[in-house]
Amino acid sequence: MHDLATRLQQYAKVETNVSMADYTSFRAGGCARYLAFSEDEAALIAVMREVQEAGVPYYVTGNGSNILVRDGGFPGVIIKIADGFSEIRTDGEMIVAGAGALLSTIAKEAARQSLTGLEFASGIPGSLGGAVYMNAGAYDGEMKNVLETVRLLDPKTGAIREAKVEELELGYRYSKLYETGEIILGAVIRLQTGDPDEIRSRIRDFTERRTTKQPLVYPSAGSFFKRPQGYYAGKLVQDARLKGLTVGGAQVSTLHSGFVINIGGATAADIISLMHLVQARVKEQFGVDLEPEVRIIGVEQGESDSLA
Ligand SMILES: Cc1cc2nc3c(=O)[nH]c(=O)nc-3n(C[C@H](O)[C@H](O)[C@H](O)COP(=O)(O)OP(=O)(O)OC[C@H]3O[C@@H](n4cnc5c(N)ncnc54)[C@H](O)[C@@H]3O)c2cc1C
Repeated sequence: MHDLATRLQQYAKVETNVSMADYTSFRAGGCARYLAFSEDEAALIAVMREVQEAGVPYYVTGNGSNILVRDGGFPGVIIKIADGFSEIRTDGEMIVAGAGALLSTIAKEAARQSLTGLEFASGIPGSLGGAVYMNAGAYDGEMKNVLETVRLLDPKTGAIREAKVEELELGYRYSKLYETGEIILGAVIRLQTGDPDEIRSRIRDFTERRTTKQPLVYPSAGSFFKRPQGYYAGKLVQDARLKGLTVGGAQVSTLHSGFVINIGGATAADIISLMHLVQARVKEQFGVDLEPEVRIIGVEQGESDSLA
């Protein structure tokens, strides 16, 4: 593993035993054995080659707004799609952006160019890569509706291809990339020319709705659970009288019961225990299975070892 750090450092800035609380919006969780900051495609391909030759686990992150790392940490390499991937270029009604560009910045640029279609994404605190991977959406909008093509890297072969959006089979918080493991390098977004005042007003409206209805002053990963078919997760949690339920530093938000928040010093174990409690009570009362939308990775406390 020490060798691996040296090898990775040829291509990327690498931090060792770094707390992922600093790199995730939950501000909680364990350490990455290695965190590699990938700044361009060639370096990313080289990092992936080294990681696979070493046979260690890896995980790709964007802005860390939908990830929780268990307290025992991630015993391998977390690859952060870093600032080098944040280019945003407008070409008529199309926006070409790197996977590391923030959705909010792309939405702002679209508004500046009087392009409509991406207003829904202005308050989603993720990167373009994370948003494509999860098919992020809000207020009746979703990435599926605005993407044209996506630039993908096959981490096993280093091959790059442009995929049409249909190939990604985007669905509710789902993409085919969950199975293929391809890494998003960038995407082309197709928008329409619109009225600048209307675009700005829609963004203002969505921002207002978020700031009044979501507990944005606390660290979280947004809506914790996926929407079960025919229900709203937040409503089920509220009807089960779980608002304010607290485990350690983790709490079901009293403002929006779909959110689990870090009220201070939460461990990943607190968050996961609270998740299990909520799941059990909702199942008991309504017979509905709640599945986390948040991606939970890494090992439990005490399990991290062999690669250290
Ligand atoms: C306050 C708040 C509000 C939110 N509101 C919304 C909302 O309205 N709608 C919504 O959909 N989500 C929402 N989210 C969740 C989150 O912002 C989105 O899911 C976002 O798309 C995740 O992007 P990210 O860059 O942070 O991804 P990360 O959290 O870094 O990663 C998420 C997943 O994407 C994968 N991934 C990331 N980048 C790449 C890449 N380049 N290639 C391959 N895989 C990649 C990761 O492996 C991981 O599985 C909210 C979160 C917060 C904290």
